[in-house]
Parts: sequence; structure tokens; C-alpha cells
Amino acid sequence: MGKLSGKTALVTGSSRGIGRATAIGLAREGALVAVHYAHNEQAAQETVELIEKDGGQAFTVGAELGTPGDIDQLFAGLEAGLTERTGRATLDILVNNAAEVSRGTVPEEVTAEEFDKAFAVNTKAPFFVIQRALGLIPDGGRVVNISTGLTRVATPSQAVYAMSKGALEQLSLHFARHLAPRGITVNSVLPGVTDNGSPVFQIPELREQLSQFSAYKRLAEPRDVAGVVVFLATEEADWITGVSLDVTGGGLLG
Ligand code: NAP
Repeated sequence: MGKLSGKTALVTGSSRGIGRATAIGLAREGALVAVHYAHNEQAAQETVELIEKDGGQAFTVGAELGTPGDIDQLFAGLEAGLTERTGRATLDILVNNAAEVSRGTVPEEVTAEEFDKAFAVNTKAPFFVIQRALGLIPDGGRVVNISTGLTRVATPSQAVYAMSKGALEQLSLHFARHLAPRGITVNSVLPGVTDNGSPVFQIPELREQLSQFSAYKRLAEPRDVAGVVVFLATEEADWITGVSLDVTGGGLLG
């Protein structure tokens, strides 16, 4: 019996990277996981296959967040998938992980479109995903929002991305108070630089440079972050809510 046996989970953006590792980690503890993606259905299906090979249960749900009708599409797929497999649409664990990641733009060059997109995907979508999920999350449920260590370190070329994630952390804080009477915890996790499989992490000089951010002088692997998210989803983390958890490998030690 895993720590999450009989539970259900949605991990947005779990076709790859930290989201995939989180989906795998939750499923390994026994949760049935909805593997969400925007466009890359094949990658999401690979996540499902990895989970099934491991003896777990999962299904895919597609919806591009930050576009009209996104929440309706996401929940139509989620509720159908849950009902088909469990006979009801109960969601115990919600991980808001999908994000529009900054490519690095100096403030002078940020466009209104870039700004709106960052906030649409990283801030507005998680708010309305939680709002809609509240009808499905039972007392004692879990919400984890994936932020970034960049909300703690001034990095001008990442200003808009960090602003959108800072707002996400505020969302965790206020929803934690709002949902505490129901025993639902809401927390933010702040990863540092994490090798999500993107080709940029294969460039040796860049890898070396980015490794310096962590006190361990290495990049995080997705599982380094996923393990913490899984912990927050378990009963053992019952007494943690409203926090922004530094998972940067000591990147903020100064
Ligand atoms: P990633 O490998 O780039 O994967 C992004 C995931 O989000 C994919 O599943 C993608 O789906 C989905 N996604 C992207 N835009 C979407 C949209 N508009 N609607 C729906 N889904 C969308 O991500 P990652 O690097 O693992 O990052 C995961 C989280 O950690 C993000 O919140 C990120 O801000 C945070 N983070 C990452 C790092 C890092 O160094 N990697 C550091 C700090 C924080 P498709 O595959 O279909 O495109």
C-alpha cells in the first residue's frame, strides 16, 4: 500500500520535466494521476506508459491553459477520466505545475503580449483551475503550486516570469487561509535550476554556469523537486500550509 493509495491527482504540465517526475512519484505512492499537457500528447502518453510500467494508474488530459475555454476543456477531460476509472469525479491532489517559462527578456524589450501570456498561464490559469477544482476536492485535499526560486533573487531578464510566480505564491497564501477550515493545504514549491531535458541543458558551458546557482554546484534533476511535492501531498504534511518551500538545493543561502 502506498501513502496515496485510493487518492486521485491532477498534475498540470506533466508530459515532461518536473511535472512528469511528480506524476510518476504520486503514482508510485498509489495515486491515480491525470497527466495534463498542452500540445505534446505523445509525451504525455509516454508519462502514462512509464507509470503503468511501474504498476501505477494514469490517463492523459489535454488543454492549452491561457486560452479561451481552457478550464472547461481541462475539467471535461479530467472529470470524464476520473469517473470512468473510479465511478466519481473526486480530486484529492492538485499540482499546478504547467508554466510559460521565460526565455530571458530584458525589461526594456518585454512586449505586452509576452507579459499577458506569462500571467495568463502562470497566474490566472492556476487561480481558475483551483476555483473549479474546489467542487471536486474533498476535505483534507492538497494543492501544490510550482513557483520558482527566482521570486527570491533579483534577475532583471526574468522579471515578468518571476512577477507572475510571485503572484502565484500570493495565491497559495490566501487560499491556504480560505481552505484551512476544510483541512485542505495549499503550498508553493520553489525549484532552482532543474534539468528538464531541454537541449539547452546539454550545452556544457551553460550547464556549468547554471550549476553554480545551487550550493551543491549541480543542476537539480526533476525527481529532486518531485519528491518534495509528493511529500506535501501525503498525510505527513498535514501541518504545513501557506508556505513557500525553497527547493533550490541551497541556491538562496547567499
Ligand atoms: P517543462 O519541461 O518546460 O514542461 C512544461 C510543461 O507544461 C509541459 O508539460 C507543457 O506541455 C506544459 N505547458 C506549458 N505551457 C502550457 C500551457 N500554456 N498550457 C498547458 N500546459 C502547458 O517544465 P519544467 O521546466 O519541468 O517546469 C515545471 C515547473 O517548474 C514550471 O512551473 C516552472 O516554472 C517551474 N520551474 C522550473 C525550473 C527549471 O529550471 N526547469 C526552475 C524553477 C521553476 P506540452 O509538453 O504539451 O508543451
